[in-house]
Amino acid sequence: MASSSKTIPSSVIIIGSGVFGLGTAYALATREAFKHTKITILERLPFPAADGASVDTSRIVRPDYADGAYTALMAEGHKFWRGEFGANGRYTEAGLCIVTDDDAGGEKPNEAANDYMRKAMENVKEKLGLRVGRRAEGGQVEPLETKQDVGRVMASMGGDCGSRGYVNWTSGWADAAAGMIHMRKLVAETGRVQFRTAEVKRLCYSDSEVESVELVCGEQLQADLIVLATGAWTPKFVDLRGIASATGQVLAYIDLTQAEQDRLGSNPTLLSENTGMFIIQPRDRQLKVARHGYGYANPTTIANPERPGEKITVSLPWTQHDEPHLQIPLEGDRACRTYLAKTIPDLASRPWTQTRICWYTDTPKGDWLVDHHPKYTNLFVATGGSGHAYKFLPVVGERIVNVMLGEDRDELGAELRRKWQWPKHKFGSDHVWTDDWRGGRKGMVLAEERARTTDMGSGAAKL
Ligand SMILES: Cc1cc2nc3c(=O)[nH]c(=O)nc-3n(C[C@H](O)[C@H](O)[C@H](O)COP(=O)(O)OP(=O)(O)OC[C@H]3O[C@@H](n4cnc5c(N)ncnc54)[C@H](O)[C@@H]3O)c2cc1C
Repeated sequence: MASSSKTIPSSVIIIGSGVFGLGTAYALATREAFKHTKITILERLPFPAADGASVDTSRIVRPDYADGAYTALMAEGHKFWRGEFGANGRYTEAGLCIVTDDDAGGEKPNEAANDYMRKAMENVKEKLGLRVGRRAEGGQVEPLETKQDVGRVMASMGGDCGSRGYVNWTSGWADAAAGMIHMRKLVAETGRVQFRTAEVKRLCYSDSEVESVELVCGEQLQADLIVLATGAWTPKFVDLRGIASATGQVLAYIDLTQAEQDRLGSNPTLLSENTGMFIIQPRDRQLKVARHGYGYANPTTIANPERPGEKITVSLPWTQHDEPHLQIPLEGDRACRTYLAKTIPDLASRPWTQTRICWYTDTPKGDWLVDHHPKYTNLFVATGGSGHAYKFLPVVGERIVNVMLGEDRDELGAELRRKWQWPKHKFGSDHVWTDDWRGGRKGMVLAEERARTTDMGSGAAKL
C-alpha cells in the first residue's frame, strides 16, 4: 500500500544508517503517531559504516552560513550539542576561524568566498545575536581584519593562516564517529527499530511505487514507506541525473605527540573559504587536513535503477571498502600538503598515516534533497547532504519527518521544505557540481587524477 504524505504507514524501511537514516529513525521511533509502525533500518556494513560520510574523526559544527535558514536550524542543533548529546567529548566548542587568503598558492580570494564569509558573519551576529568583539573582552564573534589578527588567533599553528576573516567562538567540532554511535544508542533504546546489516541490491519499481526492496542475498522486502537515505550511493537506487551526484573529497591524517595535540587543540578550527581547505582540532592524537572542494566525479555506467533495460552513467563512491589500499590522488595530496606546510610549518614533512576519499552527495545549490518522490508514492528520499549535514544530527530527523507528513511546524519548516523539495528543473549536466565556497578545480574525474598520479609517480622515480 502506498502512503500519502499525511498517512501514517504501518511499516517503514529506512535504507542507510548515516546522519539522515538514523536521524529519521529516531524521529519516527519517538513519535506517538508512529507507535504502531514497524521500523527497520538496512545498512550494508556493520555499524558504524567506515566509508560513510557520517563516520570520521571530526566534523565542524557551525551556525556560520550565508543562508540564514541553516543558521536557524543550527541554533536548534547547538542546544543538543551543548547538552547531553555532546557530552563525553562528542562536542568541543573551541571556535571556528573562517578566513580568505590572498596568498593561497595561486588561488585568489574569489568574490563568492568573500561574499559567503561576509554573509555568514552577518547571520551569526543578527540571527543569533552574538556579541562582536575580542574574546578576552567577552566577544563571541571577533572580526580579523589583517593577517596579524588571524595569526594572533591561530598562534599555536605558527604559520600563515590567512589574510582576513573572523572567528566565531561559539562554533566547535564533533567527534563524528562518537556522535553516530551515540545516536544509534538513542535509536536502539527506543526499542522500536529493527537494525539489519544487509546490502540492498535494487528497488523494484512498478509505474507508480516501489514494489519491493531486493537485498543482495536475494530476499525481497516490502513496506508501506521506503526511506532512501543512502548518501552518495543514492544514484544507484533512483535516477538522480541532474539532481544530485557523488563527489569524492580528500582527507589526509597525521599522527601527533600528546604535546602537539595539546598545543593545536587550543586553536579554533581553521577554514579557508577561497581554497576550501580546513584543519579541525586533533582527536586521539590525529590531525586531519581536508578540502571542501568541487571534488572528483566517478562516472560509472549502470542499469538505470528505474528502467533496468537502459544504461546510464552516474557518479558513485569508490572507497577503501572497494579497494583497501585506495589513496587520494597526487593533486589532492599536494593540496593538503601545501596547506599543512603553510599553516603549521613544523609539521610540513610529517608523513600521512592515512588518506581517504570521502563522498559528498552534492546538489546544485548545496540544499538537501528531502521529499517524497514525485512519481513513486511510497518512496521518500533523504539525502543531498552536500558536505554540511553532520552538524544537524540531533535535529535533522524531526525536520525530515515534518516534510514526510507535510507539517509546516513553523516558518523555518516551511522554508526548509521548499529548499529541500524535489527540483522542478535539473542541473545543466547529468553530473552536478555544487558552487558554494568550493576549492580545487571543477570537473576533475577520479580515474584521470589517479592515472596522473601513477604517471607522475613513475616520472619522479626516474629522477
Ligand atoms: C570529507 C567530509 C567532510 C565533511 N565535513 C563536514 C563538517 O565539517 N560538518 C558537517 O556538518 N558536515 C560535514 N560533512 C557532511 C556530512 O558528513 C554529510 O552531509 C552527512 O554525513 C551525510 O549523511 P548521509 O546519511 O547522507 O550519508 P552516509 O553517512 O554516507 O550514510 C549513507 C549510508 O547508506 C549506506 N548504504 C549505501 N548503500 C547501501 C546499500 N546498498 N544497502 C544498505 N545500505 C547502504 C552506507 O553504508 C552509509 O552508511 C562532511 C562530509 C565529508 C565526506
